[in-house]
Amino acid sequence: MKSQLMDGRVCAGKVYEDLRLRVQRLKEVGVFPKLALILVGEDPASQMYVRMKAKRALEIGISVERIRLSKDASEEALKALIRDLNEDPGLHGILLQLPLPEGLDAPSILASILPEKDVDGITEARCADGFSFTPCTPKGILRLIRDTGISIEGKHAVVVGRSALVGKPTAELLLKENATVTLCHSKTRELSHFTSMADILVAAAGSPGLIRGDMLKPGSLVVDVGQSLVEGQWKGDTVFEEALERAAFLTPPTGGVGPMTIAMLMENTVEAAERFGK
Ligand code: NAP
Repeated sequence: MKSQLMDGRVCAGKVYEDLRLRVQRLKEVGVFPKLALILVGEDPASQMYVRMKAKRALEIGISVERIRLSKDASEEALKALIRDLNEDPGLHGILLQLPLPEGLDAPSILASILPEKDVDGITEARCADGFSFTPCTPKGILRLIRDTGISIEGKHAVVVGRSALVGKPTAELLLKENATVTLCHSKTRELSHFTSMADILVAAAGSPGLIRGDMLKPGSLVVDVGQSLVEGQWKGDTVFEEALERAAFLTPPTGGVGPMTIAMLMENTVEAAERFGK
C-alpha cells in the first residue's frame, strides 16, 4: 500500500480562497484587517517564518506591521510595545515570533497580549465572552485531517508529544471531535504499543525517526508535525519511506503541517477583524 499524501499547500490554498472573500467583505464595511508581526533578534529560521507570514497576509489583503527589535531588547520594552499594539484600534492581530532570545521570559511577555488580538492562540487568557483563538498548529492539524474526508468520531487518536503549544491542544481538539485519545510523551513505556493501535497518529515529539513503519497500524492516518534539522536536512518524527508503505494517509516530509499553521494564523486574524474589528 502507498499512502495518499496530505498536501498542506493544497489544503491551505482552499483556506486562502475563502479568506480573500472574507477580507473583501470586511473592507466593504470599512474594516481593514491588520496583523503585527514582532521579531526579536536575528534567528535566521524566525526571520524566514516572519517573511513567509507577511507574504501570505499581504497576498490575501491583510496589511502587515513588521516590527524588529534587537536581541538586547528588554522585557519592559517588549511589554510596552505590546501595550501600544493592544490599544491600537486599527490592529486586529499580534504575533510574537518564538523562540525569544535567551533572558526574555516568553510566557510573561506573551501574557501581555490581549486575548482579542492573540491570533496565535498562544495565551491561556479568554475574552470577556469566553472566546479564545485556537492555537494555529493544532487547528491546522485538525483541518488537514478533516480535509481527507475521514471521520474522527469514535477513532483511536494517539498524539506523541504533550507540549502546551502542539501536543496537548491537539489532543484536546481531537477529544472535542469525539475521538478516543491517548497522549504519549517521553516517559511513555512501550510507545509502539500505543502507536500501533492508532487509527489517527499525530507525531509531535521533535525526535527524528522516532516512529518506524512497523509501529503504525496498517491503513491509519499519520500527521507528522516533527521538524528537526539533521545534517542540513529537515526530518520528521516518522521514517517517511516506511510510513508510506503502511499508512493510508500521510503528511509529506515538507509542505504538510507548516503551510497549515500559517493558513490558520491568517484565518484567526480575519476572524479577529470580523469579531472585534472597527
Ligand atoms: P517540545 O516542546 O520540545 O515538546 C516535545 C514533546 O515530545 C514533549 O512532550 C516530549 O515529552 C515529547 N517527546 C520527546 N521525545 C520523545 C520520545 N522519544 N518519545 C515520546 N515523546 C517524546 O516540542 P513542540 O514545540 O511541541 O514541537 C514538536 C515538534 O513539532 C518539533 O519538531 C517542532 O519543530 C515541530 N513543530 C512544527 C510546527 C509546524 O508548523 N510544522 C509547529 C510547531 C512545532 P516530555 O513532555 O515528557 O518531555
